[in-house]
Amino acid sequence: MAGGQIWDEQYECMPHREIEQLQLERLQATVNRAARNVAFYEQEFDKLGVYPEDIQSLADIQRLPFTEKQDLRDSYPYGFFAVPLREVVRIHQSSGTTGQPTVVGYTANDLRHWTELVARNLVAAGVTKDDVVQILFGYGVFTAGFGFHYGAEVIGASVIPVSHTDAQRQVEMMRDYRTTVIIGTPYYALRIAAAAEELGVDPHSLSLRIGLFGAEVWDERAREEIENSLLIKAFDVYGLAEIGGPGVSYECEHRCGLHIAEDHYLVEVINPETGEVLPPGAEGELVFTTLNKEAMPLLRYRSGDISRLDLEPCACGRTLARMSRVMGHSDDRLIVRGTNIFPDQVAEVLARIPGLGAQFQLLLDRTAALDQMEVHVEVAQDSPPDSVGGLIAMEQQVAERLQNLLGMSVAVKLVQPGSIDTSQGRTRIIEAPHES
Ligand SMILES: [Zn+2]
Repeated sequence: MAGGQIWDEQYECMPHREIEQLQLERLQATVNRAARNVAFYEQEFDKLGVYPEDIQSLADIQRLPFTEKQDLRDSYPYGFFAVPLREVVRIHQSSGTTGQPTVVGYTANDLRHWTELVARNLVAAGVTKDDVVQILFGYGVFTAGFGFHYGAEVIGASVIPVSHTDAQRQVEMMRDYRTTVIIGTPYYALRIAAAAEELGVDPHSLSLRIGLFGAEVWDERAREEIENSLLIKAFDVYGLAEIGGPGVSYECEHRCGLHIAEDHYLVEVINPETGEVLPPGAEGELVFTTLNKEAMPLLRYRSGDISRLDLEPCACGRTLARMSRVMGHSDDRLIVRGTNIFPDQVAEVLARIPGLGAQFQLLLDRTAALDQMEVHVEVAQDSPPDSVGGLIAMEQQVAERLQNLLGMSVAVKLVQPGSIDTSQGRTRIIEAPHES
């Protein structure tokens, strides 16, 4: 072992065949519960002629139906709950590009497990009870803020639940509170690095040492940029609101893929076109089955995230399989006039423009003959443009950068800090009403 700490050695370092045995037992229990308590699964099982007792090995999972995001939407709000509402102690929701949000429920046990998984994640990155953790993720119905909050508390760190605020304010708090760990989205971290520079705060004067980043697709180039500008070690984290939030998989100190909490999740990789299950090492869409969820068990949930699995043991001592960093989400994609647009790409461009705030939203209007896209971006709280001319110049600058990225012109509107509500996602689509 290379000196890293492990929060839960029993499960994180369990011999893999024992994990598989545990997975099978938990899978059987989950399938039983889902078949009995969730109408969607009862109907799907009937249609396919499969019964819970058909699950005799892990490979038998392939007899079960997939669950799609649309299935969750169709059952809005509580159709996938497998327990009575009085046993649900927390409700979160996940956003999407279109339509209904999806709802996630947690029993008290679900919350306890979730907290444990996030604690594993934080400890694997080197966070300890001596750290001061500043959480940049939004709180509210989005899972990341609360998820990391409780995980950091359970390991005994000092947690500052800042959530989204002006980037300069974040820097001042980091300086004053001697923050050592930040947790948020990667492009917000870049924005904070830019704000530190604007404020003349030398990163050497800060106490930061570790950053955990997720909820956006980012690459090694962004990692390097964040590490160099904030003088931290940056870790990728992965979670999916529908199956429970952050803590699903995480990097250890070797950062060679993200260890999956296999005692809680069974992961398959499929060909996204055909649904065929691919062998380990092949690139495809991640599909998750929850193994320990009481309130909302999900079978073969299609994440839309493209990755690959590595089953080789890791130098850290963990036996948990690793997934490569997610290369893209099929889900977030907007197609505008034939061009693929990913909100994460837009976030990456906006992060590098000084004077902007924390949030933005893409509004796609499909009511006209030609799709129109408008980008709303908050200005920074502490340094708003001081004149109408300044505002227009800044809008033009943002529009030009986006045009370079997207290859099409978009309208840009700068708005007041705090005025954009992204609880339903960073994209909004305005559809034409159906003709009758
Ligand atoms: Zn490892």
